[in-house]
Amino acid sequence: MTLDTIVEEIQKANSIVLLAHESPDGDAIGSVLAMGIALENMGKKPDRIIKEYPRRFAFLPGADKVKEASDIEKYDLAIALDCSDLRRLDGKEYFENARKTIVIDHHSTNTMYGDINFVNPVAPACCEILIGIFTYFELEINHDLGTCILTGIITDTGGFKYQGVTPETFEFTAELLRKGINVSEIYEKVLETRTKSNFELMKRILNRMEVLEDGKVTFTYMTNQDVKEVNAEPGDHEGLVEIGRGIEGVEVSIFIRQDEDESKYKISMRSNNNVNVSKICYLFGGGGHPRAAGCLIQGTLEQVKDKILSEVKKAL
Ligand code: AMP
Ligand code: MN
Ligand code: MN
Repeated sequence: MTLDTIVEEIQKANSIVLLAHESPDGDAIGSVLAMGIALENMGKKPDRIIKEYPRRFAFLPGADKVKEASDIEKYDLAIALDCSDLRRLDGKEYFENARKTIVIDHHSTNTMYGDINFVNPVAPACCEILIGIFTYFELEINHDLGTCILTGIITDTGGFKYQGVTPETFEFTAELLRKGINVSEIYEKVLETRTKSNFELMKRILNRMEVLEDGKVTFTYMTNQDVKEVNAEPGDHEGLVEIGRGIEGVEVSIFIRQDEDESKYKISMRSNNNVNVSKICYLFGGGGHPRAAGCLIQGTLEQVKDKILSEVKKAL
């Protein structure tokens, strides 16, 4: 049983590093922090490495323990969370050098790049997989652990509203409420509060938004120039792709943002009912979930827009 092997590897390891995907969202961060707390409860001292930690998640328990890098080159064990492939892993060098590697994830496009892979593509968030794992480890889900897990669930389900939510999602949240954990406060902090820069970006991307294909597709973008002008920090673009999807009649929302490498663009896509955006992103070397996916494409804004739109049109 994979979970027994995972426990064994954790118990054997003297040094453990926890990693997640680059441009980390609430699920990536919640998963790393939750696993960090869990391993401490098991008597371990894991390192949590996130190179660009978004300020809006600074309130989470254990956020102060996150490091940008580490002196240890060769960990006994590396655990990658919420990340579908090695290329996208933040701090992949620690993973590649580690003696043993574990992948815990919920992307259907996961490439199974660990020695041990615990992947459940039906789970709405990586954090939801962790509930089962921690229960198996016989760990109590206390306030801190609950807060981190709930953060991942709330952000990856858009506040319990996407199709992937399960009865367990609500049962877990109910259990947290019974324990006196302030679920609305966490919700408010992780989903309902915009940074000022996010608000400024929102104004810009809304102004540029095009409604295409008889109202079935929205397209908008932001550039590094925008990032500079509104003083955006990592994570400030989070949630903007959702706006297009909310418009009546829209099936696919496309949001692209320039990469630090100016000749590339990061694509974020969302869909409502029929189009599997993960398949489209997969064509460009990316992936994700049927209703939320991403990829990285080389080219000018116009070239990238054309490439992605031509695939979306085929899928409509
Ligand atoms: P985002 O649009 O960045 O919020 O990402 C939506 C979903 O697609 C998330 O589950 C991401 O982990 C996944 N995703 C985004 N970019 C990529 C990529 N380049 N490769 C694989 N998965 C991705
Ligand atoms: Mn994620
Ligand atoms: Mn996730």
